[in-house]
Amino acid sequence: MIAENLQQLHERIEKACSRCGRNAGEIQLIAVSKTVSADRICQAMECGISDFGENYIQELSRKRIGLDDTSLRWHFIGHLQSNKVKYISEYVHLIHSVDNAGLGGEISKRAGSAGRVQDVLIEVHTTDEPTKEGVSPDKTVELARQLSRFTNLRVCGLMTMGPFSDNPERSRVSFRHLADLKRAVERERIENVFMRHLSMGMSHDFEVAIEEGATMIRIGTAIFGKRLNQTL
Ligand SMILES: *Cc1c(COP(=O)(O)O)cnc(C)c1O
Repeated sequence: MIAENLQQLHERIEKACSRCGRNAGEIQLIAVSKTVSADRICQAMECGISDFGENYIQELSRKRIGLDDTSLRWHFIGHLQSNKVKYISEYVHLIHSVDNAGLGGEISKRAGSAGRVQDVLIEVHTTDEPTKEGVSPDKTVELARQLSRFTNLRVCGLMTMGPFSDNPERSRVSFRHLADLKRAVERERIENVFMRHLSMGMSHDFEVAIEEGATMIRIGTAIFGKRLNQTL
């Protein structure tokens, strides 16, 4: 089932890219494996997937054991508390969810202890839905500036979630807003800040995200099927 789902997904990515004159090679697929068991992650790896996204520290830590870390890259995509950073700082490939300078400072400190520079994205709150996650759009440039001062952290772009809706068109405004913000940060020419990536688009709205400039899409359900339980 995973192989078939992936094949269909790749076809949809290709189609979305050709609609807007992009190359499918520009789009990094991140398989969101929350609630998905290690053996099903292995199945996805056998189909060529190497990037996996998780949003709970404990679940990620448990799952990592037994999986070959040299051939896969973990993305942390959920809300991250400063006191949990230490559990992932030695290995996590990209943290998508940095929304305040305090968290950035802790990530930089822990990365430094591990002898690494941690790549991160700034999570922006682009909908009018009430959530505590994501920096507000008008504070994004300021946060990029603050994060640029941490020596063991490197800002590589922006991330957002579209609104909770079955209608993918409702996400378009959010995604367009994020692409605008990326250009706004670029114009500031902040040292040590690289606006390379836009992480946006999930199973129901990734095609719209691709049309609006996504370079990373985070796909769970369309690869692994519907999630039944909350966490593993
Ligand atoms: C769960 C999750 C996804 C994937 O959602 P699907 O609808 O299953 O594709 C993407 N991004 C984040 C931040 C998530 O928590």
